[in-house]
Amino acid sequence: MMDRIKIMSETLANKIAAGEVIERISSVVKELVENSIDAKSSSIKVELKDSGTKFISVTDDGIGMDRNDAKLAFSRHATSKLLKEDDLFFINTLGFRGEALPSIASVSKVNLITSTGSVGTDIIIHGGKVISVNDAPARKGTKIVVEDLFYNTPARLKYLKSDTTELANVSMYMEKLALAHPEIKFTLINNDKVSLSTSGSNNLLKTIHELYGYVVSSNMINFNASNEDYDVYGYICKPSILKSNRNHMTTIVNGRLVKNIELNKAINDGYYTYKPDIKYPVVVLLINTDPTIIDVNIHPTKQDIKFSKQEELNKLITSEIKRLLHKSLLIPNINVKKKVEVKEVEQNEILMPISDENEYVLNNDLNSLNDEQVRFDFKKVEPIIKNDMVDNEKIKKLELYPVGLVMGTYIICENETNMYLIDQHAAQERINYEKILKALREDKVSTIDLLFPITIELNYSDYLKFNERKKILDEMGFKIEDFGINTIIIKRHPTWLIEGYEKESIEKLVDLIINDYNVDRVKFNDSIAKTMACKMSVKGNTRITIEEMESLLDELVLCDNPYNCPHGRPTIITFTRYELEKMFKRVMN
Ligand code: ZN
Ligand code: ZN
Repeated sequence: MMDRIKIMSETLANKIAAGEVIERISSVVKELVENSIDAKSSSIKVELKDSGTKFISVTDDGIGMDRNDAKLAFSRHATSKLLKEDDLFFINTLGFRGEALPSIASVSKVNLITSTGSVGTDIIIHGGKVISVNDAPARKGTKIVVEDLFYNTPARLKYLKSDTTELANVSMYMEKLALAHPEIKFTLINNDKVSLSTSGSNNLLKTIHELYGYVVSSNMINFNASNEDYDVYGYICKPSILKSNRNHMTTIVNGRLVKNIELNKAINDGYYTYKPDIKYPVVVLLINTDPTIIDVNIHPTKQDIKFSKQEELNKLITSEIKRLLHKSLLIPNINVKKKVEVKEVEQNEILMPISDENEYVLNNDLNSLNDEQVRFDFKKVEPIIKNDMVDNEKIKKLELYPVGLVMGTYIICENETNMYLIDQHAAQERINYEKILKALREDKVSTIDLLFPITIELNYSDYLKFNERKKILDEMGFKIEDFGINTIIIKRHPTWLIEGYEKESIEKLVDLIINDYNVDRVKFNDSIAKTMACKMSVKGNTRITIEEMESLLDELVLCDNPYNCPHGRPTIITFTRYELEKMFKRVMN
């Protein structure tokens, strides 16, 4: 009787735990696959039927379990018995590791076949109850099949999302695991269709290629940086291949996938003004550190992590991304139906362009590849994707000859090799942004007295706010005084305000100070520079002369980042001769 009660309560406990831990198909896959990784597998295959709602199976070639361990694996309190001291780190990572398998088994029909290489074990469990234990073939590794998830908890069954959503979650998760473990061969199959497959080459760039394809992998820049506490290695994408969601920023700490808002922010900050705010990069960073300076035990299902010295880590990442992007600046190429015959090429080969212009990319990427792991066959690669990575110093000497203006907005330019389109407003904005930012950083300000002082009338509450923060404008070189009720008068301004735009610029500035004030002066200066640059830049649809275009272009190429406006939009688009010839069918391939 006592035993029975004990078993009942344990089953109940498992079901309750299952509710917390096992919410999605992807959480089941996550648990099983992570077990396989911990079992030192070199190949892990996940097979699903109907996105896993009917059937999930995970097969690995890991160390396997003997019969005793196999039985214990389904017992909730067995955890500690299975543990060794040095397992504590990964236990921390997942928090509930020992509870996952019993939880899954309590809400589904499970068949576990496992062997350490000698006699194998085959266990069948339904709803947490052991149905049978038999001998199995001695194939080293583990296969676990989970069928009819939540069949005995209909309330939970309802919460499963549509097949597509569940499958998308599973694939996204597997993608990230594959990036965290390039040394493991991963396969995901749904309804007999392979939806993800990596080769286990132990080469991160190759894995990126296998998951994201050629266009992405050929646009990655190798990242390598360290400080006292952290070594960070990986790849960041050029801003030409941004994604519209943040799911493609993958961060892995000591081999474990983590989600950390601050890390994502650090990555994004690195791309600041190189991309629009609503676009996100493809980034894979493997962070290695002493396990004692991180705390992974925050929430078991969230994969979150806490770093001591997070700020230093953020800084390391942000500044290195900035440096890399700056070093290899980019003019987006016009996208002439880039035909990439990936199908004709064996999947497990990394494709590399052969054109001479791509020397830089090749050198860069080859350094990071291990010859033994990747065999290059350049002859196989026929399509030419124009790689748009150009050394920044070369660009500084870029000669751009304006030809004319179209739609009052785009300047057409040429030089010996290419044709360029330049967004007049974006270019002007970039120039002004850098100018203003520089002026705001300088201690000395040069000022001009206004011939006709400008008055601005505010409402009372704005007036109060303005007066409270007026000091900032004084420091910038403005001379502002009270002028009657809730009204201010501007008598002097710094020289960086562009002639002809004084009134609207000052009004905008006052508006910024009242409504978008930020105590962080560096950030506030930046938003001032950004907003003012836009205000003071030539409006679209303004006709400018060839001479004006020339001086605009001269200033643009000298900018720190001539290729994006401060909002991250491109300023220049290139058409190579080849692309033009292709569009006019002068060349056929
Ligand atoms: Zn603008
Ligand atoms: Zn802009």
